[in-house]
Amino acid sequence: VIPLQHTGGDEFALAAARVSSQGIEALESLDPEHAAKARGTINALMRQRHGSPFEHGYATFYVHAPLFIWEEIKRHRHMPFDHDDLSLSQESARYKEIEPTFWIPERSRPMLVPDEYKAMRPRFLETDDGTYETVRYELTYAYSIAYDAYRNMIERNVAREVARAALPHGIYASGWVSGNPRALLNFISLRTHDEQATYVSYPQAEIEDIARQIEEFLAQHWPVTYETFQKNGRVAP
Ligand SMILES: Cc1cc2nc3c(=O)[nH]c(=O)nc-3n(C[C@H](O)[C@H](O)[C@H](O)COP(=O)(O)OP(=O)(O)OC[C@H]3O[C@@H](n4cnc5c(N)ncnc54)[C@H](O)[C@@H]3O)c2cc1C
Repeated sequence: VIPLQHTGGDEFALAAARVSSQGIEALESLDPEHAAKARGTINALMRQRHGSPFEHGYATFYVHAPLFIWEEIKRHRHMPFDHDDLSLSQESARYKEIEPTFWIPERSRPMLVPDEYKAMRPRFLETDDGTYETVRYELTYAYSIAYDAYRNMIERNVAREVARAALPHGIYASGWVSGNPRALLNFISLRTHDEQATYVSYPQAEIEDIARQIEEFLAQHWPVTYETFQKNGRVAP
């Protein structure tokens, strides 16, 4: 994840909330120092889930992730995204050939299904060396067959939009993800695991890694919003 831009800090949430009672005078709240002093107001907005004041900022991130994680990201309808790889936007389907970069889990990534596995609360065990080698071997083998098929079709001048059907879920794609703080908090709330959260979520490790990096950025640039999100059980407003 690479942050590309951001705009509208905590003071925009504060001023947007105050416009209802202060009209044009709310513009005086457009100062980060006011937001820091008015954390009580921002906390009340967060606690009572008055979400719209948190929609006046914006951030954009470059994300490089396997296709199966892009499918999860795309479920967040309030986080617009724009793929520039893998034919998910028509333009790149015509002009870009796909690089053979594939996802292989790290040895330390838990991936063995325990006896007490629960679908709604999935947790996995660390794997042994032999099983990990099998995972690595099988994924590498499947990827190489799939990518060879893709290349064969490209070399025969088959349209990329047809040849891409051979590409596996484990191939990496890059794209841009943007959202306002409210949408980003919803993403963070659902895509991170925190035992202290009011609603504990069980996301896949690879999307959690992305969400944690976005969380760090949000904490840095919307410190009061983030502080009150934490204080109120990581429930998105
Ligand atoms: C751990 C986990 C497991 C999951 N497993 C599955 C699964 O097995 N199968 C599956 O299909 N999905 C699954 N999902 C995806 C999940 O159902 C959501 O689609 C996804 O998390 C996006 O959340 P969202 O709708 O809140 O986000 P957004 O689309 O960004 O929406 C934000 C908020 O806007 C409001 N909103 C948006 N659209 C509408 C609408 N049309 N009507 C009313 N209100 C709306 C809602 O309040 C929503 O919370 C899973 C998600 C998680 C975190």
